[in-house]
Amino acid sequence: MRYILLYILIMLSTVLVSAQQVIEAKNWCLSRCDLVGDEKENAELIYLKLANDSIKNYNNSKEILRFPLRIGIVQRDSLDISLKEIRVRQAIYRLNQAFKPVGLLFYIDRVDVILSDLYLEDLSEDLYQPYNDFSDKYRLDSTISLYIFDHKKDFCRVTPLSISCGRTGGFSYVLSRRTNNVVMSKFDLSDQKIMAHEFGHFFGLYHTFEERQFGKDDFDPDKCALVGDRICDTPPDPGAVFEIYVNYSDCEMLGFKNDSGQVYKPLIENYMSYYKPCYMKEYSFTPGQIEVMRTAAHSDLRKRFSR
Ligand SMILES: [Zn+2]
Repeated sequence: MRYILLYILIMLSTVLVSAQQVIEAKNWCLSRCDLVGDEKENAELIYLKLANDSIKNYNNSKEILRFPLRIGIVQRDSLDISLKEIRVRQAIYRLNQAFKPVGLLFYIDRVDVILSDLYLEDLSEDLYQPYNDFSDKYRLDSTISLYIFDHKKDFCRVTPLSISCGRTGGFSYVLSRRTNNVVMSKFDLSDQKIMAHEFGHFFGLYHTFEERQFGKDDFDPDKCALVGDRICDTPPDPGAVFEIYVNYSDCEMLGFKNDSGQVYKPLIENYMSYYKPCYMKEYSFTPGQIEVMRTAAHSDLRKRFSR
């Protein structure tokens, strides 16, 4: 009898459990993310807002500097905001992932729609005069602006004899007082690298292949802090024009030497290089680059933009 009772109890609990599972499955069906189509994106948007607000409301710490951003969406008419909020928030979220090791965090403080006929490519005309004029006109003195521009329709110029293609993802002066903004192309806003690269410039970093400002870094260890990007843990980089020597699976340049026979081993997956992403590897800044950016961020040039 006791066995029968036990058996009945087991049966009953099984029925209860399975009944509960059925109910749960029904609930699960009701909250599926593809019924209307926008639930998942809306949830993502709320989580991104939460992440943004948690930076905004973060208690001041000497270790972390927080920078409010004014987002300027540049477009030709005021009919609609042509950029989805979630794309901007995702881009800032990725920027913060890149800058976490630096101890700098960014949050969206205000968003302006700026009416202008300028495309990204127009800004670099006449030695960047249109860019300087634009920066002066819309400048906010105490806040870093992130301007997001449309690009011109065609990236390639096709003639009967040649095809040439080019695309600018964004740009920024290196640690300059001239402007206090970073420019991004709407096209490359979701790129893993470009915005972090531009903010790297804004906080004082040069390209790993830099040679125009301070001279070429040609393997002299005594000069690594004086030439090239002036950072010793970024090895000499011949530049992406030689990327044919890069094996992107091993994430390594192979067999390319300078005139003295020294072998180039540049950092392929560094934010400040011009190489493509390596398979399954994340971009990063080196400790030397992080030190430069931290020092720049705590200097008068940049700290005044922090809150
Ligand atoms: Zn650059």
